[in-house]
Amino acid sequence: MQDNAYFCPECGSPAIERSALVGGAASCKTCSWQGKNEDLHEVPFEHDFPSPEAIAERFAAEFSGLIAKNLAQPIGSMLLKWGFMTMERMPQELGLYMRAIATASAKAVLEVRQGLETGAIKRPEKKPEGLRKGVH
Ligand SMILES: [Zn+2]
Repeated sequence: MQDNAYFCPECGSPAIERSALVGGAASCKTCSWQGKNEDLHEVPFEHDFPSPEAIAERFAAEFSGLIAKNLAQPIGSMLLKWGFMTMERMPQELGLYMRAIATASAKAVLEVRQGLETGAIKRPEKKPEGLRKGVH
């Protein structure tokens, strides 16, 4: 099954308001961006959950927000260090990279979950209690 998640084109936040109508108004609750529905960054994703698809969509949106909020700075520094971006282009390009990273990561999580559900991925075996260290 396919769904779409929507993100702010300015800051990548999933906290957006959008009209149900094509061409309707959209705005971001994180930054001050305002525009139209079709300007929002749209992320299609595949899923196959027994639970309502709304859960998967909400998960992807929240996951992307979490990654953007917590990892934009360290990832930005690393991309600069490795020459993927220049300081001048960072504001625009970091958003592109972060959206791609968030989308791919959320997709990977959903794929692992699906693999575990279907048995395509073997569940790791539990370690015997005696082998755990530092857990009391
Ligand atoms: Zn925004």
